[in-house]
Parts: sequence; structure tokens; C-alpha cells
Amino acid sequence: MTNLTIVMYHYVRPIKESKFPGIKGLELEGFKRQLDYLSENFSIVSTEDVVNATKYASSLPKDACWLTFDDGYKDHFEHVMPELLKRNLHGAFFPPRVAIEEDKVLDVNLIHHILSCADNVGKLVSSLNSHCIVHGISERELNDFYEKYAIPNRFDNADTIYVKRMLQHVLPEQLRNRIAHEMFQEFVGLSAAEFSSELYMSVEEVRELVRNGMYVGSHGSMHYWLDKITAEEQEKDIKESLKFLDSVGASTKDWVMCYPYGAHNDDTIELLKSFEAALGITTEVRVANLTSDNPFKLPRLDTNDFPQ
Ligand SMILES: [Zn+2]
Repeated sequence: MTNLTIVMYHYVRPIKESKFPGIKGLELEGFKRQLDYLSENFSIVSTEDVVNATKYASSLPKDACWLTFDDGYKDHFEHVMPELLKRNLHGAFFPPRVAIEEDKVLDVNLIHHILSCADNVGKLVSSLNSHCIVHGISERELNDFYEKYAIPNRFDNADTIYVKRMLQHVLPEQLRNRIAHEMFQEFVGLSAAEFSSELYMSVEEVRELVRNGMYVGSHGSMHYWLDKITAEEQEKDIKESLKFLDSVGASTKDWVMCYPYGAHNDDTIELLKSFEAALGITTEVRVANLTSDNPFKLPRLDTNDFPQ
């Protein structure tokens, strides 16, 4: 049995002193303590180690642990990489192409920042619903959506999940994007375009990660829920993300796919195999077992599952 603990990170920054003290993320000091904890209790392995263990059955050290960082935040360049380098540790980074190459903010990040700036989520639900009504959605449809999607999970209450799901995938793409931008302006008071360069790494910073020996893999081009688009659309998205990897000096052989939101289907896995990917990582919550797990469906734990 080859256990591998894969840890997933998103925001890592000095949150309390930041412009968005309400954002849900990991405090930099907590990250440093967590690296100490993980280094003491696990062997931190590189992406190459994990690929070799899965593809070529080479062995991993006991209590192997692989650190993964999603979404291409500037945090990863400014705070994470220096800490990893200081400790001679390796991390795997998964920036979505659109966030790095274009002046856009991912819907998921618009939503996090809207949530972090609202003093109560009830206000967000009413704002969201009024935007929907203006755009021709009936109250009855909204009630049905609430009933179907407002299901609390281990991190968020029902209202929060409702706002997230509506803006992540329930509403049609153009409409949800428009409403997310309107609500961002309303609750955060910034335009998304000016916010984008603060939030994400630049292309040059991603190259710098690669030059410093960090792994950079695919998190898609547009950060889509891949299971909600056609196989042709998935193929286009994956190809674009590979072109991006190539442009920043990252390898496109035996590469790693980190599915946005963990979402994928059989088509995705077939495509990954045809594009010479080695691994796919999800958001299923448990320790991976490289002997029995499908290498394209590896589960991860969250930073919140460990002491900080
Ligand atoms: Zn993501």
C-alpha cells in the first residue's frame, strides 16, 4: 500500500493585515507553522516523485506528502515560494490560463471577495435574487434553485452555498458572469479588471516558479467545471492550458491536471490520456492510495485538515 497525503491550498497571505480581512484563507504565519508540522510528520515529495510512483511504480517514502496550490494567486509567488525555497521543499502550482494571461477575475474569486465584503450573507442572497429577477428569472424558479442547491457543507452554510452555486454554475454562463461583476462592484467597490493584477501572478512570475524548480501544471484554461461542458469544449480548454504551460517553460509530458472544482468525467480522463497527462487531482477528501486509486482521480486533503 502506498499512501500519499496530498494537501490543497488556495489563498496563503497575511490576511488580517490585508485589504480583505474577511477572506477565507490561510494566514501566512499558519502556513509557516503548518510547513514545520508537515516537515516533521511527513516526507514532502516532489511532483516528479509522485509521477514516477504512479507511472513507473517507483516507491515513495513512508508518510509521503505532496503540496498543491490552486488558482495562480500572487500569494503563491510572494509568500509560498519563498517559504518553500527557504526549507528546500517542493510545491506544485496550478494556475488557470485565463487568470494569468488575461485581465480577468475568475468567477470563483469574484464570489469569494463578494462574500468576504458582505457583513451578512442574507444581503447577498437578496441582491443576487433581485439581479436575477431583473434578468427575467421568476421568483418561483429562484425558490426551486434555493431548494435544490442551498445544501450546507463542512465549510459553508446554506445561504453561502446558494450564492456560490448560483454564480458558479446554476445560472447561464454570461448571466452569472455579469451578475458576479455587478455584485463585485456593489460589495467590493472595485472593478474586476483592476483587481486581476493584484490577485494573480503575472506570466513572468509563473515562469519564475518554474525556474526555481517548482512544478507548474494545468488548472484548465477558463477554469470551467469540465463535467458541465461537452467533450469538444473540454478538449479545446485542455489544449489551451497546455499551450500556456509550454509558454511558461513547464513540461507538457507526464503533466498533472488539477480539475477546477475537482470536476471531471470519463471524457476528461480519456482526453488527459490522449494528451500524455500522468495524473489528475480532485477535491475528494481523503488520503490517496497509489496502489488502488485511479491516477486520474487522486483525492486531496485541505490545509484546514491539518494544524495551522
Ligand atoms: Zn480553482
